[in-house]
Amino acid sequence: MNQITPQPGIMDIALYQGGQSHVEGVAEVIKLSSNENPFGPSPKAIEAVRDSAASLHRYPSTDHASLRNAIAEKHGLNPDRIICGVGSDEVLQFVAQAYAGPGDEVIYTEHGFSMYPIIARMAGATPVMVSERDRRVDVDNILASVTGRTRIVFVTNPGNPTSTMVSDAELVRLAQGLPNDCLMVLDGAYAEFVDGFDGGAGLVDRFSNVIMTRTFSKVYGLGGMRVGWGYAAKEIIDVLNRVRQPFNLSLTALAAAEAAVGDEEYLRFCQSENARLRIWLSEELAKVGVASDASCTNFVLARFADRNEAEACDDFLKTQGLIVRRVAGYNLPNALRITVGDENACRHVVAAITAFKGG
Ligand code: PMP
Repeated sequence: MNQITPQPGIMDIALYQGGQSHVEGVAEVIKLSSNENPFGPSPKAIEAVRDSAASLHRYPSTDHASLRNAIAEKHGLNPDRIICGVGSDEVLQFVAQAYAGPGDEVIYTEHGFSMYPIIARMAGATPVMVSERDRRVDVDNILASVTGRTRIVFVTNPGNPTSTMVSDAELVRLAQGLPNDCLMVLDGAYAEFVDGFDGGAGLVDRFSNVIMTRTFSKVYGLGGMRVGWGYAAKEIIDVLNRVRQPFNLSLTALAAAEAAVGDEEYLRFCQSENARLRIWLSEELAKVGVASDASCTNFVLARFADRNEAEACDDFLKTQGLIVRRVAGYNLPNALRITVGDENACRHVVAAITAFKGG
């Protein structure tokens, strides 16, 4: 019998439940469960990955200067205030590890990203879930839940899986209402899908306790490469770099992300196809009695009469080789989250849900 026990609290950490990618007995599936880019990465990123093979015997850059400069140039930011991580997951983890520990509280919202409580516990801190209102982040509820022990507040904007936005005015109210020793993290994983949205960079410049996180996994189609970044005050970036491993990003991942960020034309193509198809998808679903909030991301939160109907629909979609995401774990048991795929995928999912609804 193994007598080795893990550290206190480790077994309280939930195992992350990712989007399914196959169905037992179904050979060909269309995966719409992880908000991936159906068009894949920029061809320039693929070329950069191939080119990087010649240098695989070399260690990658430790300071990511070239990628940080490329990101900074694209977004008009200071590269010294950017940190890169293995997906934005790792950047979020740096924040929790560096700023929260045993006895501290970390706030996240009811339908917020499921990694927040996981990384809070990984840091030994206590996650505190705050209710939303009609699938929207409620700033008053957050402020009412802040205690002397609150160190971090995580807000996903736009929300996943809700696809709702928190207004700038509300975010300013939150930043102003938080104590000086509490960080506010704006997770902008889906920011690029919102026309003209800066992901919260302006708020980072206004408030020294605000951090923005972004990813290459969504609109840039590089989920498999694992690259994300954060933007914050120089002092915060300096702290986060101390809990970052020196070679956290592979040479290949750095090359792919840098090429992707430079391909404006491909980015615009992905943004506009997504914007067109997400409207079509929700309009078609509405015609068969499946409601959704207007999406500003690359997924639609389809709402059903109740949990039974949502699960029955999900089971039926699987028989048709369509994988979407159940979101009961996000306190949305009546809903299914459907990634906006390419036109073929959108047509398939609409046809299958129409058939499920008896249309
Ligand atoms: N934040 C949100 C809201 C997400 O949905 C995701 C991906 N599911 C992430 C962060 C993490 O993404 P990545 O680590 O791939 O950058």
